[in-house]
Amino acid sequence: MSEFDYDLFVIGAGSGGVRAARVASELGARVAVAESSRLGGTCVNVGCVPKKLFVYGSHFAYDLRDARSYGWAVDPSFDWTALRTNKDREIARLNEIYAGLLERAGVHLVQEHVRLVDPHTVAGKTGRWTARRILVAAGGRPIVPEIPGAEHARVSDEVFSLAALPRHAMVVGAGYIALELGSVLNALGVEVTLVHRGEEILRGFDDDLRHHLHAELETKGVRILLNTRVNALEKTADGLIEARLDNGERLQTDFPLFAIGREPNTAGLGLETLGVELGQRGGIVVDDSFTTSVPSIHAVGDVIDHVQLTPVAIAEGMHFAHHFFGNGERRIDYASIPTAVFCQPELATVGLSEQEAWHRCQDVRVYKSVFTPLKLTMSQREEHTIVKLVVDASNDRVVGCHMAGHNAAEIIQGLAVAMKAGATKAQFDATIGIHPTSAEEFVTLR
Ligand code: FAD
Ligand code: NDP
Repeated sequence: MSEFDYDLFVIGAGSGGVRAARVASELGARVAVAESSRLGGTCVNVGCVPKKLFVYGSHFAYDLRDARSYGWAVDPSFDWTALRTNKDREIARLNEIYAGLLERAGVHLVQEHVRLVDPHTVAGKTGRWTARRILVAAGGRPIVPEIPGAEHARVSDEVFSLAALPRHAMVVGAGYIALELGSVLNALGVEVTLVHRGEEILRGFDDDLRHHLHAELETKGVRILLNTRVNALEKTADGLIEARLDNGERLQTDFPLFAIGREPNTAGLGLETLGVELGQRGGIVVDDSFTTSVPSIHAVGDVIDHVQLTPVAIAEGMHFAHHFFGNGERRIDYASIPTAVFCQPELATVGLSEQEAWHRCQDVRVYKSVFTPLKLTMSQREEHTIVKLVVDASNDRVVGCHMAGHNAAEIIQGLAVAMKAGATKAQFDATIGIHPTSAEEFVTLR
């Protein structure tokens, strides 16, 4: 008889926690997972999946306009409640699938909020459980601004359950969530003002792509204020929220959405009392095997505050399970993680921006093309695609692929494999294109 109830107790049934629990259980460990909310975590409930469904839903605004020039008579009307309700039904279906996956893997589900009480014990309202190892996969939550009137600020979680669409959204921030949800709201007819503290949107991405997207968003009707901060929020007599901007403007909005980053969900877990080291923003500090400063406590995913992406959380959960319950090591290569911002048009990228390449390589060659995709030449809708390759001139290796345009994420995922395999520009050039596509531009850049 083991001295512990379980070999592994996982806190959080999100992307990382579920994968770690399932794999460890399939490798023979006795596993339990605690979840205080809905199964699947952020990605399934208030992240990637409902967001992408809303992106699809909102893109019809453009598709229906294009359809006319292709001979279709369309008289569009939009029903927000239908989109939200159908999305909710799909998410409920996914919650069930997750429950089935855990059950079939033999993982015991504890449906409540839990906290750590000692290096091998977790406690909740209904009990206490001991485990040889505890994995914290508690994810993150939206950051709320520290300004007067912050209680009026809304965050991304709320967008997914809005009773009705707002009239005028003020979206603060210019990262993933601000651009994605700002694009969705804008396409659905909401007036959108984006307020960003920086010089340009999407810090960290390639400058050409940042400027390109800025212009495209403005063409679609998004108002963008740069170098601007919100000093305070105040409720007006007619129930709106007035935002006081540091440029002197007073902006009235019925939806002040703050998308200013996400912080690790570590408060109240009991980590500090046990001596688990936390970073400056509260993220759990781990080593290569996802072990914290307490040897029996581990952490993966957004809670370690490293790369906040679902495939990364899953890879970390899998690595952890194989490392401690399987035969071997599974290295995670954090270099060149492909990523997409599902704004409209979509942006996707892998590898180095031109600016990063100039820091890392002695000499850099850059190839780019900006064009109107064939589909839009008929409808004359103003939207341009940009594709860009960044090449290390010393060895001809492609070190960065960037695109903003329809299906950019689908295209860049394939190019990420080529880059992982060390493809050179000569090999891109030797590849025959598929005509007529936007993707073929990547093999015809001269
Ligand atoms: P989570 O999925 O957040 O899971 C943590 C779970 O732990 C939660 O279910 C929580 O309820 C539970 N929990 C926390 N504390 C406790 C406790 N004490 N007891 C019990 N349970 C607890 N990433 C992408 O790759 N692509 C995208 O398109 C994308 N879109 C996104 C859109 C939005 C709006 C947001 C917010 C995020 C998006 N992300 C996207 C990021 C992605 O959702 C996260 O990186 C991912 O979900 C992290 O997984 P995780 O397992 O670390 O945490
Ligand atoms: P991001 O880090 O992407 O963007 C945060 C934005 O808020 C930046 O523009 C930042 O500006 C700004 N900001 C930060 N702090 C403040 C502040 N105090 N006041 C005003 N502005 C501020 O975070 P998100 O919230 O958009 O998303 C969180 C994470 O979730 C992402 O980083 C990503 O990893 C993940 N995600 C992934 C998606 C995907 O894969 N498609 C989609 C959605 C989320 P500055 O540039 O100046 O720092």
